[in-house]
Amino acid sequence: ALDAAFFVRWMTAVAAAVDREADHLTELDSAIGDADHGSNLKRGFTAVRTALEKEPPATPGAVLVTAGKTLVSTVGGASGPLFGTLLRRTGKTLGDAERVGLGELRDGLRAGVDAVGQLGSSAPGDKTMLDALDPAVTALADGFAAAAEAAGAGSRATVPLQARKGRASYLGERSIGHEDPGAASSALLFAALAEVAR
Ligand code: ADP
Ligand code: MG
Ligand code: MG
Repeated sequence: ALDAAFFVRWMTAVAAAVDREADHLTELDSAIGDADHGSNLKRGFTAVRTALEKEPPATPGAVLVTAGKTLVSTVGGASGPLFGTLLRRTGKTLGDAERVGLGELRDGLRAGVDAVGQLGSSAPGDKTMLDALDPAVTALADGFAAAAEAAGAGSRATVPLQARKGRASYLGERSIGHEDPGAASSALLFAALAEVAR
């Protein structure tokens, strides 16, 4: 079972991956958005790392709620409230258990992904983060590595889609042929999870 320290390691690994990939995420966002996705998430996850170091929460749920609140308050773009909602709702669903199993994490993330779709009035196929998040949570039934793989495949599968939500949708057909930045960063979230679970 996974304890609070595991979830802190997960969020720390996401922060490192976002640091590493920030320029790439911004490049993706410069093609179909406003070229700030990397800097948005870098600012957000740097703040998450600081918040978790300052006062490490005692439960898995509290780690994710703290991370989610920090993202909402530090990231101005669409991705702040959306990723913030994902982590907060997942954390709330985990409740105050000291340890959670893979099945509970999957149920929690499923609730989190549903909350993202509600907040964004979006669904898989709209060329958003949901195209990586949704298949990843489904694949989590087969383990962390399968989830990471599904998230990466889901993100790459956004390339031929036309965006129906977010800034990229303003481009209409011109959004076709580019990977969605939020789907790419969602793949990092699951890659980091697989990395810390190894
Ligand atoms: P902004 O678009 O405000 O500059 P970011 O660049 O940080 O914010 O994030 C953009 C990403 O947010 C998109 O690539 C997409 O994945 C995601 N996104 C935007 N709108 C929605 C929505 N309605 N539902 C789900 N995801 C969305
Ligand atoms: Mg942007
Ligand atoms: Mg922006």
